[in-house]
Amino acid sequence: MERNDICPCGSGRKFKKCCQERVDDAVRRIGREIGLGDCTAEGREIVETLGFMCGMRVEEEGHMPDPETLGRLLQDAWNEEERLRDRGDEVGLKGLLDRFQELLGEKPYLRHLRVPVWQFDFDEDFDIMEYLNRTWGYLLARRSAELIRLSLLYDDCSEDELKLLLTGLSWLVADEQRELFWWSVLSRTQNDLMSAAREISEISEKYRDKDMTGFYAKVEALFDKFPVYRKMLSESLAEEIEPAVTAVMQGKIKLEVPLYSVLGGIYATISGFAESFEELLSCRRVPPVLLPLLDEALLDADEYEFFLPEVVNSLSERMDEVQDGELEKSLGKLMLYLSLMFDDNRYALLEYLYLRHVCTFLVGLPLALPEAGVEFKDLKDLCDENLVEKYAAYLESRNLVEEAGHVRGVYRSFGARAREKAAEHSSRSRENARGRGCDKT
Ligand SMILES: [Zn+2]
Repeated sequence: MERNDICPCGSGRKFKKCCQERVDDAVRRIGREIGLGDCTAEGREIVETLGFMCGMRVEEEGHMPDPETLGRLLQDAWNEEERLRDRGDEVGLKGLLDRFQELLGEKPYLRHLRVPVWQFDFDEDFDIMEYLNRTWGYLLARRSAELIRLSLLYDDCSEDELKLLLTGLSWLVADEQRELFWWSVLSRTQNDLMSAAREISEISEKYRDKDMTGFYAKVEALFDKFPVYRKMLSESLAEEIEPAVTAVMQGKIKLEVPLYSVLGGIYATISGFAESFEELLSCRRVPPVLLPLLDEALLDADEYEFFLPEVVNSLSERMDEVQDGELEKSLGKLMLYLSLMFDDNRYALLEYLYLRHVCTFLVGLPLALPEAGVEFKDLKDLCDENLVEKYAAYLESRNLVEEAGHVRGVYRSFGARAREKAAEHSSRSRENARGRGCDKT
């Protein structure tokens, strides 16, 4: 870390103009407790790393223990270990490792501190420790240090637990002892994966195909307890959902979702693409220019809180119609993936599905909803406040109160901007009467 480097706290400013003063102060204060003068070079590095963790600016409300407390506990941790080593107390040292592993399972932030063992191809010559001590290990070490910092900041820890955490940090920073750290994390990872696999088969047996809501809730809780399992499952599922995703993309499996669950996306799309709908509708991928707009529509307006359940519902309805056994299995996994996974892959898939649905509605104009007494004849009508309000009132009359509120909210955030664009568009082209209207609400 150089003075002129960008500060790692994320402020975008130079280190010397941002956190350096606080970091230096923390290092000084921890050093005073430890007696930095008598330290080995490695001891000094550990203190500096810890000072860094303490001094870095925090965005949210955290509760980093003060440097004096951390210095005292670090000193205690070193003393305890030295005593055990001097006495040649193997049992005591093993106990220390075991306690650190327990801590890795107990604190929410530390639960993320794992080694992605499933990514390695194990053959007879493969030595994971050697591997972790090289390039890969460097990346993991940086991430591990960050997770330890987050745990210091946000997890509730007793003094004993803090001391243990500092013991682990020392192992991570000290070259000679890094293997102790990796060994602990590796054991914990394997332990978690086995426990999670056992628990999920119990949950499956009890809930799957009987009570899907219960099943999802239980699996979600399991993922909170074992985040590494979510990651592993997510990566293996990503390969297995391919047939189902292809079938959905090719329109072989028809997904039906109601208008309210994509209305925000329709506005985003009209705002960003009104001039070139033909181009958009023929797109097989989400056009990059639309990504930020869709992000806004999906996330800021909580759109996918409505979109996602509708897609999962529709998929489960389609399950009965699918004759192909392989595809059915893949579909089941796609549903699980969409319901439970949170990673970049899922998000990309979600955006893609979302745009497809937006296009389906746009191609389907005019869109008649006779029960609601509403007909959206062209883009302009989709952005017409009165018609949108009529649609919302209709949803309300069907007891879809949250959905009605969502429609009004989406109109407030995106509707006016879309209305302008739609007006420009319709003054250019007057025709727009392809396809049939379909909306299951
Ligand atoms: Zn900073």
